[in-house]
Amino acid sequence: MQSLDQLVRDASELATGRSVPMTPAETEVARQMQICNACRYCEGFCAVFPAMTRRLEFGAADIHYLANLCHNCGACLHACQYAPPHEFAVAVPQALAKVRADTYAQYAWPPAFGALYRKNGLTVALALSAALALFLVLAVASQGSLWHAPLAGNFYAVFPHNTLVAMFGSVFGLALLALGIGVARFWRDVQPAQEVPAPGAATEAARAALTLKYLDGGHGEGCHDEDDRATHARRRWHHFTFYGFMLCLASTSVATLYHYVLGWKAPYPVTSLPVILGTLGGIGLIVGPIGLMRLNLRRPALHGDRAQRPMDHAFIVLLLLVSVTGLALLVGRETGAMALLLAIHLGTVMALFITLPYGKFAHGMYRVAALLKFAIEKRQPNRLALGAD
Ligand code: SF4
Ligand code: SF4
Repeated sequence: MQSLDQLVRDASELATGRSVPMTPAETEVARQMQICNACRYCEGFCAVFPAMTRRLEFGAADIHYLANLCHNCGACLHACQYAPPHEFAVAVPQALAKVRADTYAQYAWPPAFGALYRKNGLTVALALSAALALFLVLAVASQGSLWHAPLAGNFYAVFPHNTLVAMFGSVFGLALLALGIGVARFWRDVQPAQEVPAPGAATEAARAALTLKYLDGGHGEGCHDEDDRATHARRRWHHFTFYGFMLCLASTSVATLYHYVLGWKAPYPVTSLPVILGTLGGIGLIVGPIGLMRLNLRRPALHGDRAQRPMDHAFIVLLLLVSVTGLALLVGRETGAMALLLAIHLGTVMALFITLPYGKFAHGMYRVAALLKFAIEKRQPNRLALGAD
């Protein structure tokens, strides 16, 4: 991870446009890319290698782009004749992973918050969830007893609707704003203004992101999670997680539509669209993160950057906490424990939203931007015309 000095220098470069020396992690990627550019054995594996062949030199912006284009499938490491213990020590997934994490911090907005990526570990996530849940539990207790007569699943009898919308809407909005500005800063750095998006580029990038195309290892057999064997497990668990999250978001959106447009007030029956979407999303957000955590714990060191594990684990555990407490709330919403379950669930959701812009969630946004750049760039004439396009 970057030192504070480096973060400040990077922020200064972004602000002033002045060039500053590359970090050791960026220099290492540039070194490995020079070797790969001579070798080119992995040209067909993923988007990184065709993007690499369009360059003879690698500046910081090129390296940031390639780092976020890599999906960390491990295929190039397992295919590489120059991987450690060879003296060339080529370990592309690890080198790119180190720079990738640095880019989140470097482009973060506000810039001073970039250091939070290094602090957003499991302990912080658990402590924040616990503190927020406790705060809300105490707020409920201050109104009377935590145990109450059943409220027929009416959450708004515990926390008024407008209070919830104001609290969660503003935090989620701020999280998206911070992430959006960060990705815009990245985009401005990596995408030349003269490369105008050609028709089809956005569709291709969206399809690659939604299907996680580059988690197929290039050979179609999936990622190398532990050894030379490739499996589709990582792609599958990512899909459970991503679509689980999207279903939960859809559930909230439909409920908002019901409330404000149709005037249908919660609670909604278990057969209603918001509850069905939320339940399916919650199940996806249990299955996916458990699978991802299992893979993460087993991945060899050369596949990634061990220093990022706390950030990975914090995000996975927060997703699990949100889904487990959400499903527990659904099961217990007709009982006298609803207020307690609601307070705990809302505390975990708030912790997830607060940590969203400065944690693992960022990787999805930066990767989509890198995929879009790749789709735009490949439609441009290759000025070098030396390798496969
Ligand atoms: S990762 Fe290894 S095998 Fe693949 S292109 Fe680079 S040097 Fe060649
Ligand atoms: S790890 Fe996979 S996605 Fe990343 S550069 Fe290697 S082959 Fe491409």
